[in-house]
Amino acid sequence: MRLSRILISIIFLMTVAGNLPAQDSKTASESVVSALDKTSDPCVDFYQFACGGWLKSNPIPADQSIWSRFGELAERNRQELRGILESAAKAQNRDENEQKIGDYYSSCMDEAAIEKKGVAVLKPAFDRINALRDKSTLPDLLAYLHGQGINALFGFGSGADFKNAKQVIGQADQGGLSLPDRDYYVKDDAKSAELRKQYVQHVANMFKLLGDAPEKAAAEANAVMNVETALAKGSGDRVERREPERIYHKMPVTEWQSLTPSFSFTKYLTGVGAPALDSLNVVEPNFFKALDAELKSVSVDDLKTYLRWHLMRSQTNSLPKAFQDENFNFYGKTLRGAKEMQARWKRCVAAADNDLGEALGRVFVEKYYPPEAKARTLKMVNELEAALHQDITELPWMSEVTKKQALVKLAAIQNKIGYPAKWRDYTALKIERGDALGNSLRANAFEVHRQLAKIGKPLDKQEWQMTPPTVNAYYDPTENDINFPAGILQPPFYYFKADDALNFGGMGAVIGHELTHGFDDQGALFDPEGNLKNWWTPEDEKAFKERTQCIVDEYDQFVAVDDVHVRGKLTLGENTADNGGLRIAYMALMKSLADSGKPQEKIDGFTPEQRLFIGWGQIWCQNQTDQTARLLALNNEHSPGKYRANGVVQNMPEFQKAWGCKTGQPMVRANACHVW
Ligand SMILES: [Zn+2]
Repeated sequence: MRLSRILISIIFLMTVAGNLPAQDSKTASESVVSALDKTSDPCVDFYQFACGGWLKSNPIPADQSIWSRFGELAERNRQELRGILESAAKAQNRDENEQKIGDYYSSCMDEAAIEKKGVAVLKPAFDRINALRDKSTLPDLLAYLHGQGINALFGFGSGADFKNAKQVIGQADQGGLSLPDRDYYVKDDAKSAELRKQYVQHVANMFKLLGDAPEKAAAEANAVMNVETALAKGSGDRVERREPERIYHKMPVTEWQSLTPSFSFTKYLTGVGAPALDSLNVVEPNFFKALDAELKSVSVDDLKTYLRWHLMRSQTNSLPKAFQDENFNFYGKTLRGAKEMQARWKRCVAAADNDLGEALGRVFVEKYYPPEAKARTLKMVNELEAALHQDITELPWMSEVTKKQALVKLAAIQNKIGYPAKWRDYTALKIERGDALGNSLRANAFEVHRQLAKIGKPLDKQEWQMTPPTVNAYYDPTENDINFPAGILQPPFYYFKADDALNFGGMGAVIGHELTHGFDDQGALFDPEGNLKNWWTPEDEKAFKERTQCIVDEYDQFVAVDDVHVRGKLTLGENTADNGGLRIAYMALMKSLADSGKPQEKIDGFTPEQRLFIGWGQIWCQNQTDQTARLLALNNEHSPGKYRANGVVQNMPEFQKAWGCKTGQPMVRANACHVW
């Protein structure tokens, strides 16, 4: 039940691992030039020009369903984490931190022990579920399961109060599904129907592995599907959930209770160990009404089946290989199109990063993120902030009143670089060698407790939502801060020895992207202190909406795969940030070049302007299976790599000038969109 922070805006959806060609030794020049396809015309398909070479020499590894520059870098970081974990597992005289990460990893890697213990490890929890006699004791049982991170029926956690962002409050939200989104349960196209059939088969297979007879397993799978479908029907839609007002319903606990009379939240809150609370944000009130209807009609036996399923599914990594294989068959192969399961070590590194991220990240940062790297990032952030300041000042569509507010907000943005100022204390989390499942459940319990303990306290703005080795970045509107983990400040985002132009196109545009989130359709609704309070005049809002509609229309036309288009509305915030991010990076580069006073020479045959665009294009090189292309187009708020590259440059006269493109060519959009 790790309720992810709603509303934070990340740069990329997922970071995945694979097999990395040795890149460290390559110079920036080699890396950049070999990724190009010089036979194609940058004015016709810039993505192909920037990435064609890379796409050709980087087929999707068998254990991946998407392979990108993000994935490549994540893999390099993962190799480094593996080294850290292996030596912590072996070391003598370890400190507490090393003991935890080393024993966690070695337990996860001990497949023989996991195989030998079999499904017996789940027995204590299964016994608790089987003891459910009637629905009146469900709140206690659910509190027990949620307390160990099992996301069944709904989600409960904590978050900043949108209207008093200094304060953390309780937060209850929709949840309890096993497919990636509500749409998978309710859409009636042939693909969705087929996928549902495959999912039910998968659930049945898992129950068979537990030892249930085939007919019984099939009936159990149907029961799970029925409960989840009812929850999905009550769940909010992804596009609608982008609107902050739509996901903020602060109400007294008694009002929450009145939405779901069949379930005692008072009992639940006591059981799960929440601090006393009078009110909370009920993110999706309608969901809790649907939950009530389902709880009234479902049988106790079906409810138990559903809970057993969620328990088993959340812990496949600590169950025998047959469970992991079956889990991969559906979630890896069918849903995403991967051919092979990831090696055990990759899954164990990911689990350690997830469960002990700051204990592991602390060692990672000591080894791989020197103070110079942090200083370099900070310098670039300052340059980008200066460029955004200039951009806002010069915007033709924004009134002076709103501009003044925007500049106040810009000045208030907190820059968090590399890693947290204060590391998380894991003292209370016991990690035992040889107890993979126990470690995982105790880590979940530790995290649930940590989240719930924040309720009623001031918001800690020093905390991070990502671990240091993560290849990603985010803006958090309730904290008004930008966050760049140490993991991303490496090639191809940042080449230490390369020219500014290339780095401004990569890391610079990523920084610009995050900064503009503070001012986009979501960010504009939050004031400098992070409160949900619109600071735009109605006229400015109207002008902004007209300009962003241009971006909705542009991206709606892009085809992700087969007949599936990019969803212009779902991806609007990210596309606007991409467009603004690169333009601001361009401005910052121009200033930096002018300030340097040096004559601008070509490198690898390209001008600084051209290299900025190449830097941008090349961070988006990406191969993916058709299954993943479909999955992401339907659910991901980011456009596919190809359109993140091309969708932006089409709107930039600066691009056309840099490459000598002519009106009418594909990379010159007739009605260019321009927000920031
Ligand atoms: Zn973003």
